[in-house]
Amino acid sequence: MRHLITPICAAVALALATPAAHAQNAALDARIAQLATQEEAKVIAWRRDIHEHPELGNQETRTAALVAAHLKKLGLEVQTGVGRTGVVGILRGGKPGPVVALRADMDGLPLTEANDLPFASKVKTTYLGQPVGVMHACGHDTHVAMLMGAAEVLSQVKADLPGTVKFIFQPAEEGSLPGVEGGAKLMVKEGVLDKPKVDAVFGVHINSKTEVGNLNYRPGGEMASSDRFTIKVHGKGAHGAYPWNSVDPVVTAAQIIMGLQTIVSREVKLIDDAAVVTVGTINGGVRYNVIPPDVEMSGTIRALNPEVQKQIWASIRRIATNIAESAGATAEVSIDPYVPVTINSPALTAQMLPTLQAVAGNANVHEIKAVTGAEDFSFYQEKVPGLFLFVGGMGKGQDPATAADHHTAGFRIDESGLTLGVKTLATLAADYLTANPAKQK
Ligand SMILES: [Zn+2]
Ligand SMILES: [Zn+2]
Repeated sequence: MRHLITPICAAVALALATPAAHAQNAALDARIAQLATQEEAKVIAWRRDIHEHPELGNQETRTAALVAAHLKKLGLEVQTGVGRTGVVGILRGGKPGPVVALRADMDGLPLTEANDLPFASKVKTTYLGQPVGVMHACGHDTHVAMLMGAAEVLSQVKADLPGTVKFIFQPAEEGSLPGVEGGAKLMVKEGVLDKPKVDAVFGVHINSKTEVGNLNYRPGGEMASSDRFTIKVHGKGAHGAYPWNSVDPVVTAAQIIMGLQTIVSREVKLIDDAAVVTVGTINGGVRYNVIPPDVEMSGTIRALNPEVQKQIWASIRRIATNIAESAGATAEVSIDPYVPVTINSPALTAQMLPTLQAVAGNANVHEIKAVTGAEDFSFYQEKVPGLFLFVGGMGKGQDPATAADHHTAGFRIDESGLTLGVKTLATLAADYLTANPAKQK
């Protein structure tokens, strides 16, 4: 779809066609901004508490209880146990209108925290048989705290909201254990976008390498799909000294790995969308002078456009099976789709851009290049138009090159960035409800 019209042209055209939500809502948005600022100390306290008590995916019971108690105190309708440990809060505004969802993920990672912070995690667990710490090393603690803040802000302006806000606190964004369902996919399957039916969804991710005060977004494919592939090469084993008696799967596997490099370099139209094919494991053989009968490899596929994703799947199958055939071997290819492309609706992005600019200031809102990391927010966007943003979490004046990356033991967030996240979530919800009265039911 992004091949038909460039996102920037589409954004301009749609911005002219849809009402500028923010202009209609200036008085309400000013109140939201003020209330969000007043929330700062509470949001930071929640964040520190959650940071100190991180929980792995599908085990977020303490976090979920904290969230559910907060939402109940605000007078929301609360559902618990959605998608295992997920919590959903429904806030019905004083006027009729559409339904908008705001989403935060709640899970930590199996990583031992290396930060010297008073609220650093000391939690320990066993993950896949290995003893390890648990840490909010992706900033999902800040997401929970910011959405709790947004819920408190919006519940204070409830009477003026023309529609309904659904707060989705999601487990297991980082993935579930092998063979276990979870995350956004399971919440969607269990109907989180129904009853009442959600018209649009917004979510934010804190970023440790973006200065506080900034918002980053991209219309269309913003974050990559993530799929796992496995290739089993079946040949014929032989003595290492008599290779003519073998169909050597090691050499064939090497040819396949080199062949896979031509998918991105020769077949994907890179001027439109980046893509990645990485072989991460290769296993075969037990002894230096024995040619084994089989070799198995596995890897990851990243794409920023679902058509390119399907093209890469087909290319992997074609290259692996035909190279194997040329060697007299066979290749068994299996592809496990994991997370779809995070696609920000160009129309919704264009409609909400004035809101982002009003909340953060024009100079602090940036259209960014696509990211080859993946995010399961994409499962909501498969069903309803959605917009996923990055909120600055790096201290002012810090060098992004030296700021610790997500998923590392030294990952840190500057908490002065959290109020912008609260304002952004709450204002997006209020402005969306005001700007889309046609969807009233
Ligand atoms: Zn992460
Ligand atoms: Zn994350």
